[in-house]
Amino acid sequence: MGLPLYPFDKTLEHPAAGDTNYGQGVFEGLKARRTERGNIAFFRIRDNASRMAQGAKRLGMIPVPENIFIDAVLRTGAANTDYIPEAKDGDAYFRPKQSGSGPIVGVAPSPENTFEVFMTPVGPYFKGGMSAVSLLVSEEYHRAAAGNVGFCKAIGNYAPGMIPAKEAKAQGFAEILYLDTNNNLIEEAGAANFGFVGKDGKVYFVQPSGTILDGITSRSVEQIAQDMGFETIRDRIALDFALQNAAECFCMGTAAVISPIGSITHRGTAYDFNHGEVGPITADLYDRLTGIQTERYPDKHGWLTILD
Ligand code: PLP
Repeated sequence: MGLPLYPFDKTLEHPAAGDTNYGQGVFEGLKARRTERGNIAFFRIRDNASRMAQGAKRLGMIPVPENIFIDAVLRTGAANTDYIPEAKDGDAYFRPKQSGSGPIVGVAPSPENTFEVFMTPVGPYFKGGMSAVSLLVSEEYHRAAAGNVGFCKAIGNYAPGMIPAKEAKAQGFAEILYLDTNNNLIEEAGAANFGFVGKDGKVYFVQPSGTILDGITSRSVEQIAQDMGFETIRDRIALDFALQNAAECFCMGTAAVISPIGSITHRGTAYDFNHGEVGPITADLYDRLTGIQTERYPDKHGWLTILD
């Protein structure tokens, strides 16, 4: 008996769909939270809309207009409030995605796109309280190449990171820290941007190039650090410079929020930061970011969208 033959049903994607054949797809990830004022608040939704539009254009798709993106996310939230956890239990994660769902056999943009949004409740990232993670620098694997699509959440960027992450985890690390293809400059961790507090008291962030996702969390933490009075530097950062000059390291992302990095292992040597413990400035940045997201602190940059 062979494999079952499926009819071309509208619940199944077309076998010649541009996304599953050629990776013509882009997605976003953002969260909504129940706040201390009893609201449901989305964080910086417009930035996700514009990032997905940039990615769609690069992948040969007509971008979803920002107002349609925002409306679709908010409507998905409104239809699923029962699934938005209480603040102590976690957040709601929203996944807008656009892909070339129509059939195309030659390598060319798909004649039809699908834009959809789904949501799922997610637990707190730090289950037993905030703790520092260990990262492994890879000189073997790279995330993205210049001129390609590392700057957006193209679907094809993620599968190549699965085996490296699995191998790193098998060795006891939380993730890979990726370098540029010259194995010199820090790019980012699997799905989070890199930053550190220098021994000079400045806060450093990696300047996104075409190979690095321009993270909304990283941009927010940079603004918060400036609001706290820190001098911030956003630049390409050599791994050696970070290893020698960092007092506290962290990575940032919608999922990771701010995750302290206790150590980075490179060529068999582990470099510890703040004795492998959560650093005080990292903890402060985390408190301020999550404080704004949960309306514990004022939203003075207008980052929140409250669900009606
Ligand atoms: N880098 C990559 C590759 C990601 O997938 C993500 C997650 O979206 C980030 C960084 C962090 O970006 P953001 O803060 O916008 O979630």
